[in-house]
Amino acid sequence: TNPRKVSIFGATGSIGQNTIDLIQRDREAYDVVALSGGRNIAQLAGDAIDLGAEVAVTAFDDCLPDLQAALEGTGIQAAAGQAALIEAADRPADWVMSAIVGAAGLAPGLKALEGGATLALANKESMVCAGPLVMATAKANGGSVLPVDSEHSAVFQALIGEDISAVERVIITASGGAFRDWPLEKLATATPEQAATHPNWDMGQRITIDSASMFNKALELIETKEFFDFSPSQIETLVHPESMIHALVGFNDGALMAHVGPPDMRHAIGFALHYPDRRMLPVERLDLAQIAQLTFRPADETRWPALRLAREVMETGGMAGAIFNAAKERALDAFIDKRIGFLDMAVVVERVLEQLSSTTGHIDAEFTLDNILDSDHLARTRADEIIAKL
Ligand code: NDP
Ligand code: MG
Repeated sequence: TNPRKVSIFGATGSIGQNTIDLIQRDREAYDVVALSGGRNIAQLAGDAIDLGAEVAVTAFDDCLPDLQAALEGTGIQAAAGQAALIEAADRPADWVMSAIVGAAGLAPGLKALEGGATLALANKESMVCAGPLVMATAKANGGSVLPVDSEHSAVFQALIGEDISAVERVIITASGGAFRDWPLEKLATATPEQAATHPNWDMGQRITIDSASMFNKALELIETKEFFDFSPSQIETLVHPESMIHALVGFNDGALMAHVGPPDMRHAIGFALHYPDRRMLPVERLDLAQIAQLTFRPADETRWPALRLAREVMETGGMAGAIFNAAKERALDAFIDKRIGFLDMAVVVERVLEQLSSTTGHIDAEFTLDNILDSDHLARTRADEIIAKL
């Protein structure tokens, strides 16, 4: 069989590196087309050389000279910037990993879908900002979208062979992040350093902080609605500190199908890589007798206002997801820079949503990439104004 053509966007990140690990283990099976990264040029160039990529793209123009120098004489093309990312995503590929962090991942993913690729979607922001557009683009071009987020991969797997109309509810689990055992009064004082340590998963800095604030789970609730087309009232969150059960699907006969696995993203990435087959993956085999017990707690919306906001976004629909995500990204930037406190992030997002939901016609704008990027831009501007006044 011919090698499969694969591209990896966000190759230098946590998901990207786990994807490369799986590809390295079976080099002959793949032809690597494009790799993209940001500022980690040594990693990007090194992997492009190891994997024999056609092109390596950094998202940032100022990083181009370093990338060119690192790839000098290798025959691998070096490129930079937004247009270069889109051009790389336009190169024919069978399977494309979308693992850029933030709304910046949307446009390259859509371009890959336009070419009919199978898009392995780690970039949950794409679904939150543009779920209907992502799904329609896949459908119109004969491509498909496979979830990589562990909870959504779990739901997807639990639904295989099932009658979707028999599903009553979907439960996605949350570890509770770094502060799940902190008293509420202490949360206001939480620092970015404290928020950036995750009890179970080893992930990028931004998603780790989003796990502590539950903004990650908030994004995932919206992602669940967009991916599987369930109604908001069917989708629940459950705090499960051990992160072994990733999601459960409840059927109308009372059965719950749970997906259980080690907290290792190579499972969900590998599932999306080999789907519809299952192949051997290098992840830990769980010893449940050793683990002895799994525990659960309710997901408290007072402790985690992000969950309440996600419900509002799911009910509002339209551009609310893009606004929510963009405001969250700016609030997270401000928290990382210590310009606002941990609890202020939800305040910023709530105010931006309030302001822009009342702008007539805005929320219901047609679902095009331009309109989504307009909403994203406007929400970032409003968030910055609110942050400056806090
Ligand atoms: P990382 O921060 O580890 O990696 C992000 C990647 O995106 C890096 O390659 C980075 O480049 C690149 N990047 C950063 N900013 C930009 C930009 N503005 N434009 C283009 N590329 C950029 O993130 P993760 O791997 O943790 O997460 C990636 C995506 O996957 C996110 O959407 C996240 O929510 C999702 N996800 C991650 C999980 C995980 O376990 N990590 C689990 C489930 C979902 P560089 O580092 O070179 O600067
Ligand atoms: Mg997840």
